[in-house]
Amino acid sequence: MLVKIEEIRDAGLKVDKKMSLEQLNAALEGSGFQATEPLSVSASLRKLSGGVLVEGKFTSRVVSECKRCLTESKLELPVSFAINLVPESLARGEDVLDEDELAEKDKGHGEHGGSFALDQADEEVFDGKVIDLEPIVREQVLLALPMSTVCREECQGLCVKCGQNLNEKKCGCDTTFVDPRLAALKNIKL
Ligand SMILES: [Zn+2]
Ligand SMILES: [Zn+2]
Repeated sequence: MLVKIEEIRDAGLKVDKKMSLEQLNAALEGSGFQATEPLSVSASLRKLSGGVLVEGKFTSRVVSECKRCLTESKLELPVSFAINLVPESLARGEDVLDEDELAEKDKGHGEHGGSFALDQADEEVFDGKVIDLEPIVREQVLLALPMSTVCREECQGLCVKCGQNLNEKKCGCDTTFVDPRLAALKNIKL
């Protein structure tokens, strides 16, 4: 998913890139999610303020086990992102600026060529020659994953006694929790 900086004209560059299922699942390893389809990423790249603003979007389709009922649930996660890539040389220069100067500089960004998108964009450093979209997309795929998965908000989960999936039918088990110590007391006749 490489883009050479000279491919980006003044009007910007639009690219469509694919990430294979293998690459995606390698990225998702250990996350508890699995991709079901390769990823189609549409991105636009624009040169701005010495860097390159990358805006992109894709929909990631993954499956995961519902944490309540353990059935496989499918998720469709629309993702859009904006990353401002700053060449190493420029990034190094910025290190010597103190905070006031940085604030000044940010204002500058707002005035020329800078845009709302640029102010909102995360900043990352690149070598100034070639942009590799793959690590950016990989990171976005991971960021888009929900903290925990339930197949649906009102999922009833499994019966703690018999394991019945309560979304399918009620099993009728008495699941009111009784502390075993209290259960013993109940049987004492006073
Ligand atoms: Zn569920
Ligand atoms: Zn039950």
